[in-house]
Amino acid sequence: MKYIDEYRDEHIVQALAAQIARRATQHWSLMEICGGQTHTIMRYGLDELLPDAIRLVHGPGCPVCVTPLETVDQAIAIASLPGVTFVSYGDMLRVPGSSLDLLRVKAGGGDVRVVYSPVEALKVARARPDRKVVFLGIGFETTAPANAMAVWEARREGLDNFSMLASHVLVPPAIRLLLSGPHNQVQGFIGPGHVCTVMGYRQYEALSRDFHVPIVVGGFEPADLLEAVSMLVEQLEDGRAEVENQYARSVSYEGNLPAQRLMESVFEVSDRKWRGIGVIPQSGLRLREEFAAYDAERVFRVGQITADEPPECISAEVLQGLKRPTDCPVFGGRCTPENPMGAPMVSGEGACAAYYRYRRHTASHQAHGGAA
Ligand code: SF4
Repeated sequence: MKYIDEYRDEHIVQALAAQIARRATQHWSLMEICGGQTHTIMRYGLDELLPDAIRLVHGPGCPVCVTPLETVDQAIAIASLPGVTFVSYGDMLRVPGSSLDLLRVKAGGGDVRVVYSPVEALKVARARPDRKVVFLGIGFETTAPANAMAVWEARREGLDNFSMLASHVLVPPAIRLLLSGPHNQVQGFIGPGHVCTVMGYRQYEALSRDFHVPIVVGGFEPADLLEAVSMLVEQLEDGRAEVENQYARSVSYEGNLPAQRLMESVFEVSDRKWRGIGVIPQSGLRLREEFAAYDAERVFRVGQITADEPPECISAEVLQGLKRPTDCPVFGGRCTPENPMGAPMVSGEGACAAYYRYRRHTASHQAHGGAA
C-alpha cells in the first residue's frame, strides 16, 4: 500500500538504524511529541534498534492523557444530569475521574454515547431536540478544526440543544515549558506530524532558535521515525539547531490555512491546565464569547469544579519525559489497561498503555529500558 509498505520496509529501517549508529559519536536524548509516534516506537521496537547513544523519551502528545482531571469531573457532572445526552470519543469513557468514570455514569442509567467525530454528535443533536446534547471536545490542534466546525455549524443551523465541553491544548507552549524546566535533558524533538499537518511548522522556528534545539517534524511509520532521528542526529553532530520537515508528504510550512482560519473564528487562545503538569500559559483554546451559548462549561456552570491528581500516578513526569512508565511503582500491578489509575494507561496513545501492550513491563525490558 502506497505510503505504508515502503515506510515499514525492514531493509530501509535497518539501513536507517545503521546510518544513525555510524553518525552518533556521543549520547543524545530525543523526544517524540506524539502518542501515535510513541506507539510506533514501542510496537516495532525502534528504540531497541537504535544504538545505546540514542535515548528516546516520550512526550506529552497524547490528548486523552493531558486532559485535566477536572475536565473529566466536569464531564461526569454534566453527563449525570437528567435530560442530557453526553457524547464522547470512546477512550474518554474509561478515563478515571476523581471518584468514577463516564462508563459508570452510563452503567448507572446516564445517556452516554460514543461517537467517532463531532459531526456525529451534531446528528445526535438534530435527532433528539428534546435532549441537551453535549460533546466532549478534547485534543491538540489536530482535532480543533473539526470541533470548531461542529460549533460553527450548530450556530448556523440554530441547533440550540448542542454544546461542547472544550479542552483543547496547543503543542508549542508545552515544548517551551519542557525546555525551560531545570531538569530538561531533551536535546532534540521529533515534531508532531498530525498537528503540523494542520498548523504547519513555522511556529516551531522560534522554539528552535530560542533554545538552540533541533526540531524535525516526523511521521508515524517506522522509517519516518528513524529518518527523523537520523536528521536530528545529523544536526546535533553538526552543532546545528534548525526546524526540518521529514513528513513532507503531509506537512507544509504554512499548514492548512482554511482549517486554521476556522479554528481562529471559533476558538481563542487561553491558559490551560494540563493533566499532571498544571497550568501552562496560553497553551489552550476556549470558545470565543460569541459562541458562549455552545460552551458547555458556561451553559452548565461547571467551571468551578477542581480536582487533585491521585498521588500514586507519576504521569506528570512521564508526560514530560522525565520518567518512563516502568519507573511508576504501580505500573503493571495496580495500574493496568483493565484497571487504569491514570490517563496514560487508558488511552490508545498513552505511553503507559504502549509500554504495557508491547510488553515493556517484563523484567528483561525493564533492565534494558532503565530510568529516564
Ligand atoms: S502506570 Fe498508571 S499510575 Fe503509573 S504513571 Fe502510568 S497511568 Fe499513572
